[in-house]
Amino acid sequence: MTARTHPQSDALDPGLLEDVVAGAARLTPEQALDLYHRCDPQRLGLLADRRCKVLHGEHIRTYVIDRNINYTNICTAKCIFCAFKRKGDEADAYTLEHDVLLEKVSELVAIGGTQILMQGGMNPALDLDWYIELLTTIKERFPQVHVHAFSPPEFIEFVNFFDPPGADLKQKVKWVMERLHAAGLQSVPGGGGEIFADEVRRKIGLGKCDAEAWLTVMRVAHELGMNTSATMMFGHIEGIADRVHHMNLVRERQDEAINDLSQEGGGKYMAFISWPFQPSNTALGNVKEWGFGKGDDLSQPFPGDFVARLDGLGKRSDHPKFGLRRRVAGASAYLRTQALSRLFLDNIYSIGSSWVTMGPHVGQMGLLWGANDMGSVMMEENVVSSAGSTHCLNEPMICRLIRDAGYVPAQRDNAYDLLKVHDGPTSPDLAITDWSTCRPERLSTAQGTEDSGGCSVAGGSQESGESGMVSLTIQNSD
Ligand code: SF4
Repeated sequence: MTARTHPQSDALDPGLLEDVVAGAARLTPEQALDLYHRCDPQRLGLLADRRCKVLHGEHIRTYVIDRNINYTNICTAKCIFCAFKRKGDEADAYTLEHDVLLEKVSELVAIGGTQILMQGGMNPALDLDWYIELLTTIKERFPQVHVHAFSPPEFIEFVNFFDPPGADLKQKVKWVMERLHAAGLQSVPGGGGEIFADEVRRKIGLGKCDAEAWLTVMRVAHELGMNTSATMMFGHIEGIADRVHHMNLVRERQDEAINDLSQEGGGKYMAFISWPFQPSNTALGNVKEWGFGKGDDLSQPFPGDFVARLDGLGKRSDHPKFGLRRRVAGASAYLRTQALSRLFLDNIYSIGSSWVTMGPHVGQMGLLWGANDMGSVMMEENVVSSAGSTHCLNEPMICRLIRDAGYVPAQRDNAYDLLKVHDGPTSPDLAITDWSTCRPERLSTAQGTEDSGGCSVAGGSQESGESGMVSLTIQNSD
């Protein structure tokens, strides 16, 4: 049953917050926004950590072994935060052949992987049969591998490309999704969520579906019995109220999925993962940081905060510099946003830590700020790394990060069922005797830092070592 809200309570009311931690009350959007601004970071993190422990216990934190497969980088959209997409005639545009994709799945299986996360650009050259044949072949050859694939924007473009029958968008999406589901699709990733507020979305995601279409795709997946995830990319032109509005839409639609569909075997959002925008090689990265542009007055609100509304109805005309300034989210802003998501999204089971963008150690700290899951080992990543962030961790490293945070690492599957609890001496990390042989081959960051008021330090690539190798320094080790 959904917990009650107490809209009259102050966001910092200790009684309200104790009830939120216990799952006996839920925050209103207004309280969530207030909490973000007024709660000191340490207290916010502690509250999120306690809420996480209520839901997930004191001992185990999880990860999954999957492979991020990006089958094509050709895309009709023009998202200004994207460094991955190519037009079809560009020299480095690609679409992977089925046998190449199958080889990638085979490599995943060889290291004990259980899932593929397969997403691509929106490529009009691929027809429905291309996808059906691919899914069918994957499931024939690797029936044990869970197929988590095709984000909502891809489904919306499938509708545009394939012109399926149906009286409205939902019916058309359903027609396509039923066929992909029958061919082997098992769950739908939350890619393309970005920020739902229309003014932000239209500014940064040219050619990409709007929030309602995104949420409709997920509703269809839930009605077909598939679970999904939800994501949010922040730390650009949006205001903090836009982040809360985004989370509130996810929470409302999750309420509906649970209320309408859980008795009938329906699906729901299983996880929420948020991460800061990665600026390198992107048009949005060229937008001036707030405080570094002509006439920027840091005593005034950030333009995104001026425009943002909790109902998502802010208008870009409300501030002349909206969209022309961005606010970088560093480690503190990331952890605070993640902690808020844990407290606000009381109906979402898993909060994932985003070490891929934030780096191993901030990702590890995420486990103390409300996250219960470290996501996946990274065999391959093409989208975020195109924007300058490449953090590659293998299974022993992820296990060690979890253990050094005070938890027992456990491998999970897509349903968050535990496959292996690593509490013995043969655990992937405990079996390593020489960590010098177990380091990321490449680990780089390229992001501005600092968190508020536009006081940003221009970031750049921070590689260490002659070949880009860096040491993975882990606390409490050796
Ligand atoms: S973010 Fe996705 S939809 Fe947008 S341009 Fe890049 S590949 Fe295309």
